[in-house]
Parts: sequence; structure tokens; C-alpha cells
Amino acid sequence: MEITREYLQTVVNKCKPFSANGSVKQYIPGLDNSNQNDLGITVITLDGQTVSAGETDLVFTLQSVSKTISLMVALQDFGKEAVFQKVGMEPTDDFFNSIANLETYQQHKPYNPFINSGAIAVASMINGNNYLERFERILELVRKITNNPSVSLNKDVLEAEKRNGARNRSLAYYMESTGALDKDRVEDALELYFRINSINVTTHDLAKLGCFFANEGVSPHTGEKHIDGRHIRTIKALMMTSGMYNESGEFTVEAGIPAKSGICGSIMAAVPGKMGIGIIGPGINKKGNSLAGGKMLKLLSQDLQLNMFHKE
Ligand code: GLU
Repeated sequence: MEITREYLQTVVNKCKPFSANGSVKQYIPGLDNSNQNDLGITVITLDGQTVSAGETDLVFTLQSVSKTISLMVALQDFGKEAVFQKVGMEPTDDFFNSIANLETYQQHKPYNPFINSGAIAVASMINGNNYLERFERILELVRKITNNPSVSLNKDVLEAEKRNGARNRSLAYYMESTGALDKDRVEDALELYFRINSINVTTHDLAKLGCFFANEGVSPHTGEKHIDGRHIRTIKALMMTSGMYNESGEFTVEAGIPAKSGICGSIMAAVPGKMGIGIIGPGINKKGNSLAGGKMLKLLSQDLQLNMFHKE
């Protein structure tokens, strides 16, 4: 099926009403209740077609979608074995910022890299002399993958992340107390974590990121290989099992597409070998996922037969 702007617009129109039951994460500067019913989508296919519909001008921050990027860099820097010594691979039914599970899981390891504790542990495993250098590496990689040199840090969001970062600090210091995080890395890992959450993007940038994952770590538009394909497969598998917070099981059953959501109401999805999808719909449900955005992904999966577990 050809993806036309008209088709995507009908998907947006059908799904928009679902935002009404959601709420917008108020602490993030740039988003407020006036954005609750916004909905935008960009699809970029590996053969170069770009189609958008809805509010695709909205600029928002990477938030949890950044967890895929930091994991990618840590895997590239230290390899799978070393990274998964510090962080697990298992899904969890707990909320993304839960501290409880750190007390119980194997040797106090975070369950997976896509919950906050796991992402903070991953942020402590990025090469560089300090958080500024580490952040520059990540930002540069995002700019290359999105082919957008203007991707940048949103300083207001960074300040808000730090001001409201008590839970993340607690997670980091709890992990220090159990040895899951090295003592001299705690503040640095937190600073990096807050920064990568605060990178400004659009649905177009997310679709490009999705394309990159869909294409095994090769930029489909420049042909440049940035990351080993083995690491990309690891990340996509984790997106499938843990990418949509503690609603990942349902998404995998209903959509069957590796995806990672962020608290702004964003979703970055990668349909292997086919396309990348970037979505923004700031009205989120209690688990943190975009209500209308999630519906769009499920509908697209049905209409375009994108579910990885369905036969062609
Ligand atoms: N920045 C927020 C946090 O660290 C939200 C991340 C997200 O889930 O998108 O708690």
C-alpha cells in the first residue's frame, strides 16, 4: 500500500479523539494543556519516501527515546557483555521511574536499559572525559542520524529536568549504595541523563531515527554506517519487550513493531527493512504513552501489515 498524505491525515483524524482522556506532562517547558489534542506523524520509508500529517511542526524533547541512543553508544563503546553486566534485559510491570525493583532484581541491577534506573546506569558507561564530552558525542550522533545539524539542547527543559530530578537522583544514589553504579560516576551519569532527555526534536527527526534502526544502523539516506548492526538488533529487541514502558506487551501484541515512547507523548518506531515512524501526541495515559499516538501506530500496523509476527 502506498502511503499518501491523505491516508495519514485520515489516520490522524480517526485517532485524535483518543487524546481527550490523556494528560500532558506539565513540568516540561514548551508543553502545556493547549497541546493535549495535538497529533502529528512523519513516516520515512527506506526507499526515500517522506510523508507527514497533522501537527508536525511541534518541537519537543527526546525524553525516554534518548534511552535508545545512549544504549547504542554504550554498546559500541564497551560491547554487549560489559553493558549487560550492569543492566538487565528483562521487561518489568513497574513504572519507568520505579525504585522498588532495584531492591529485588539480580544483584540490584536495573531490569532493563529503558527504565530510568537502567538508563542512568547506561549513562555511566559512555566514553569521554566528562559529561560535556559524552553529551557532545551523543548529540553529534543524533545530528548525523537525523541528518539535521540543528538538533540541539533545550536549556529550559534541562533546568526543569534538574529541578524535578529528585526521583532520578534517588535512583542513582540507591544504585551507588548497592554498587550498581560506580561512586565517582553518579553525578556525571545524572548530568548526562538529564541532558540527553532534553534534546529538541520533531516527528521528522524521530522518523529518521526509526529509519536508522529499521536499516540495521546504516543511514538509509547517506549510506553511512554508524553502528554495528548486531547492536541495533539488540536495541530493537529491547524496544519490542520494554520500549513502551509497562505497556510494551500490549503494544507488541497489537502493533508488533519495535518502538520507544517518551513522556512528551512521542513515539519513535522502526519497522525492520521498511520504514521509520515519528509520532507526537502529548496527551498521555497513566503509563506514560501517547493515547492517540499509540492508536495511530496500531492502526498503521493493521492497515499496512507492519506487524512483525504476521505473515506477508
Ligand atoms: N525525563 C523524565 C524522567 O527522567 C521522563 C523520561 C521519559 O520517560 O520520557 O523521569
